[in-house]
Amino acid sequence: MQVHRTDIQKHRKSFMDKKRIVVKIGSSSLTHPETGKINLVKMERLVRILTDLRNMGKDVVLVSSGSIAVGRQTFNLKEKPKEKALSQACAAVGQARLIMIYQKFFAEYNQMSAQILMTKDTMLNPISRENALNTFEKLFEMSVIPVVNENDTVSTDEIEFGDNDTLSAIVTALIDADLLILLSDIDGLFTDDPNVNPDAKFIDYVDYIDKDLEDMCKGSNGAFGTGGMATKIAAAKIATDSGADMIIANGHDVHIIEDIFEGKNVGTLFTAHKIKDFVLLDYIKTPQYGGKE
Ligand code: GLU
Repeated sequence: MQVHRTDIQKHRKSFMDKKRIVVKIGSSSLTHPETGKINLVKMERLVRILTDLRNMGKDVVLVSSGSIAVGRQTFNLKEKPKEKALSQACAAVGQARLIMIYQKFFAEYNQMSAQILMTKDTMLNPISRENALNTFEKLFEMSVIPVVNENDTVSTDEIEFGDNDTLSAIVTALIDADLLILLSDIDGLFTDDPNVNPDAKFIDYVDYIDKDLEDMCKGSNGAFGTGGMATKIAAAKIATDSGADMIIANGHDVHIIEDIFEGKNVGTLFTAHKIKDFVLLDYIKTPQYGGKE
């Protein structure tokens, strides 16, 4: 089916009507590339923009990476820790610091924020899944912005999501959000890795995620930024099947969030196709969507 550009434009213009939004930001977008230290100006801008969305009456969730990156900085480690215990120690220290900074910035705008840490187990266990959902709902009712991350301090290979692209899509589906914004270190989806292939073409709109698209993005992990394009497509599948639109956009300048709500043609838009009888658990149990295979 041919989708007309005017329809896409009209669709983008309706983003201001979104009621529940999840924004995901990765470690590389939160830190200075030269030093790996936290980019405070960017974090503060992000907090201001999210608070403004909350002030418009929208429910807002921030999925933020950075626990390991910030912990690494604290311990002055030059390389990403390979040892599990060291990586988890970094996460324990880093997550607390990260939240401390978020809370400080949110408080400056009189905005309450909260921390929610999850593992795959949280979602697989029906009681903790229900509890997590109830907590989100209560926080929205109380005008709080939850800041979510994987619980990296206790996660093991068996129970980890592995990347926050997947986690943010699962949160989107759990809380029935209507928009997921993945802030990445790339403008969006390309036909090939633009860092390697100068002929790679930008794709600003994806209607259906078909096998061809999934195959095109396979093996692109790493080359396409933090989570890799394959995890972003997997995230898009969960989000769009659950009934949310998803946008991959470049988080270099977080004002792009405002551009998205103004209906500007930025990033790659994946449109929602709500599946009747959508069962989130089916996706979480599938290795492709649940982190490491
Ligand atoms: N949860 C990890 C952290 O906060 C990052 C995972 C990811 O960026 O996908 O350090």
